[in-house]
Amino acid sequence: MDEYGTRSVYGVTSCTPIMVAVPLIASPAVAPLLLAVDFDGTITMRDTLHVIVDEHGCEGVWDDLEPDLRAGRITIEEAMSRQFAEVKAPHDDIMALVRERAGVRDGILELVEFAEEEGHRVVIMSAGFRTVIDMVLDDIGLGHLEVVANEAIFSEDGCTLVFSDDRGDICELCDRRCKRHALSVRHEGEPIVFVGDGISDRCVSGMADLVFARAHLAEWLDERGTPYEPFEDFHQVIARVREWQGGERAAA
Ligand SMILES: [Mg+2]
Ligand SMILES: [Zn+2]
Repeated sequence: MDEYGTRSVYGVTSCTPIMVAVPLIASPAVAPLLLAVDFDGTITMRDTLHVIVDEHGCEGVWDDLEPDLRAGRITIEEAMSRQFAEVKAPHDDIMALVRERAGVRDGILELVEFAEEEGHRVVIMSAGFRTVIDMVLDDIGLGHLEVVANEAIFSEDGCTLVFSDDRGDICELCDRRCKRHALSVRHEGEPIVFVGDGISDRCVSGMADLVFARAHLAEWLDERGTPYEPFEDFHQVIARVREWQGGERAAA
């Protein structure tokens, strides 16, 4: 294991000078598939950040920030921090709001059950907030899943955002800290299936062998002529992954 908690790609001890590339897929320790699933707008029907800002945000803040954001004078993280600073509500109110309005996409329980039966690894990869994600997942009995996310501390004085250290260095593709790093350090060589919907899923979707996309991510992939599988619920995802495993994937 290295400092990031990942195994050596070559499966040799650190002092061994000869590196022999043994494909990890052949190792029984590696899961058949790594299922990386976005949270907001993917597991939830509505993006919880939008739900929160629509109710508690200060109207016009985003419009004020946009010229600076576009000109590169502030980062998306700074813009988000300033927007959420105007969200002045206690933690419990925010949780109740998300419970009432976010909704959970059909079939997520079955997807996790399918993954567990087949030995696939599941990781939830979000640019959103752990406290919100943990609550939603706990509510539906999926509190055991691995979650990569940022954090928000809600209070009546304003919300403080804490950006995860797990985002690594600036991504060479998008020039930001994106989900690609967190998936890279978790990837053990198994084929990747990614499911997502938003801007933060663009780069990381390029690492996947099979991409499920809807909403913004689907439009963005369409513009680029990049193939993906459309989905509206996770039953469709399960059916397609089964087909892929038994068909094209097995034949490859
Ligand atoms: Mg999303
Ligand atoms: Zn990136």
